[in-house]
Amino acid sequence: MAAVDSDPRPAVSLREVMARFATGITVLTVPGDECRGMTANAFSSVSLDPPLVLCCVNRKARMHAAIVSAGAFAVSVLRAGQEQLARHFADQGRPSGPAQFDGVSWSPGVHTGAPLLSGSLAWLECELVRAHDGGDHSIFLGRVLGSHRGAGRDALVFFGGSFHQVTS
Ligand SMILES: Cc1cc2nc3c(=O)[nH]c(=O)nc-3n(C[C@H](O)[C@H](O)[C@H](O)COP(=O)(O)OP(=O)(O)OC[C@H]3O[C@@H](n4cnc5c(N)ncnc54)[C@H](O)[C@@H]3O)c2cc1C
Repeated sequence: MAAVDSDPRPAVSLREVMARFATGITVLTVPGDECRGMTANAFSSVSLDPPLVLCCVNRKARMHAAIVSAGAFAVSVLRAGQEQLARHFADQGRPSGPAQFDGVSWSPGVHTGAPLLSGSLAWLECELVRAHDGGDHSIFLGRVLGSHRGAGRDALVFFGGSFHQVTS
């Protein structure tokens, strides 16, 4: 491909490009006395055999140390209608520890004990197998211990800096 002197496409930041990449929304959770949850869209499948997923967590977020300490995490894939949960678990003013689940319906995962948010589209429970350097985030690789699907069909997605609903 020939090089061009000037690119007609406006240069923008990585953040602006990623705002154009529609994602699902998850809430990551960890078990234990200091259980906590965190909204995350930096989540992806990695391998089917063995079953592996990854999530990227800011090194400064308390969730980072919580996942390393627990050695496990769960993923609740939010459905349309769960926007308030996404906002709650992204709110830095929410209570710390178990109190952040007050008023939130959940049940403990059988493999990890991590909270699985009721009414979600799907859930995964994972054992942390590796943490990779990812700049100001860490890339947590999880081996899937259990995977379950809920009854809902419509997804909550994040696009252009706001929440949307996708109807199947
Ligand atoms: C749609 C959406 C998707 C998101 N996806 C992700 C994702 O994939 N990965 C991710 O990591 N976050 C993501 N976030 C942000 C995350 O949900 C929030 O930052 C959440 O409050 C983090 O929870 P926490 O309790 O672990 O972090 P907290 O400990 O409450 O920290 C929240 C943030 O405050 C800042 N902070 C905390 N302590 C310090 C300190 N000592 N010095 C400086 N700054 C500090 C950091 O930026 C940290 O990320 C997303 C948010 C939204 C709305």
